[in-house]
Amino acid sequence: MRSRPPRSMVLPRIVVTGPSVLEQLPAVIAELDLPERGLIVCDSNTLKIAGRQVNEYLEIGGHQMKKVVVEGANSQELLRVEDALDGMDFLVGVGGGRPIDLAKQAGFNKNIPFVSIPTAASHDGFGSARSSIRQAGRKTSMQAIPPIAVVADTTIISRAPSRLLAAGVGDIVSNQTAVLDWRLDGQKADYSEYAAALSEMAAQLVEDGIEKVASGTEEGVRLVVKALISSGVAMSIAGTSRPASGGEHKFSHWLDANSDNPALHGEQCGLGSIVTMYLHGGDWEKIRDTLKIVNAPINSKGLGMDDGMVLSAFINSKEIRPQRTTILDKTEPKAIEEAALATGVIG
Ligand SMILES: [Zn+2]
Repeated sequence: MRSRPPRSMVLPRIVVTGPSVLEQLPAVIAELDLPERGLIVCDSNTLKIAGRQVNEYLEIGGHQMKKVVVEGANSQELLRVEDALDGMDFLVGVGGGRPIDLAKQAGFNKNIPFVSIPTAASHDGFGSARSSIRQAGRKTSMQAIPPIAVVADTTIISRAPSRLLAAGVGDIVSNQTAVLDWRLDGQKADYSEYAAALSEMAAQLVEDGIEKVASGTEEGVRLVVKALISSGVAMSIAGTSRPASGGEHKFSHWLDANSDNPALHGEQCGLGSIVTMYLHGGDWEKIRDTLKIVNAPINSKGLGMDDGMVLSAFINSKEIRPQRTTILDKTEPKAIEEAALATGVIG
């Protein structure tokens, strides 16, 4: 593990977003002045979607490339990626969640720069410094490195299933309650007005353009991608995930750790946000309606879970990162249940 000066920000140096930007990859790597040898981390699906293309572009650009095709984001696969990193100068994660999680965690453990190439916009992980790795069968959120560059080709991302984009909307709208929870904790939690404003604005822009997002056009996809990148930047500015992770994320992490069939991260966080916004006394209906427009889950049935599991997650979310105080930590179980019922999330 490396140490950084306190209050320093580590941000991506280059972010490229738009249709067909993947072809700019060799120019991006050249601009970063990364040495020759690179490792591509992908799964069998993202290998077809973009991995082969990435390999080809980089080899044409004069890089010696190796690739590792992973199956899941777990501790064994992490070791496999770390082993494959021997003698490598940089690594490229090509994927939705798992290959990116492994690449940024392996990059962190081995101190090797990581380039992020998302193939879906289902959560803000492709631009953030946190990874989710399965250990002993359960997903755990860990400190990783933020990407040195993000190349988000919206032509590729537009082809991903609409469920993934809807989950991305869930992760973004949840920024609003994350910021409210962060503010609640105030100075103790190193609250940053700039990071909070950036995170809230990303959510706002997606809410305002939600019809465009629902239409599935490249423009709508780009709106979500940019918001998710801004979310990652807000976390880097703050030096903590707090601008984009509050009680609704603890709710989601609890489900990941305790449910046999967790839903997508963004689906859980979006739904969690409906209830925590209600508890904050804010406009929870706006969050619910935004999620509804893109067909993201707004109740336990939509998550594919029973009411008991969802309610347990809200009530027991305090077990997750107990040092991180949120509205759920400050509310009695009875009142949490009432909020879940009043918002229609359960019942
Ligand atoms: Zn998230």
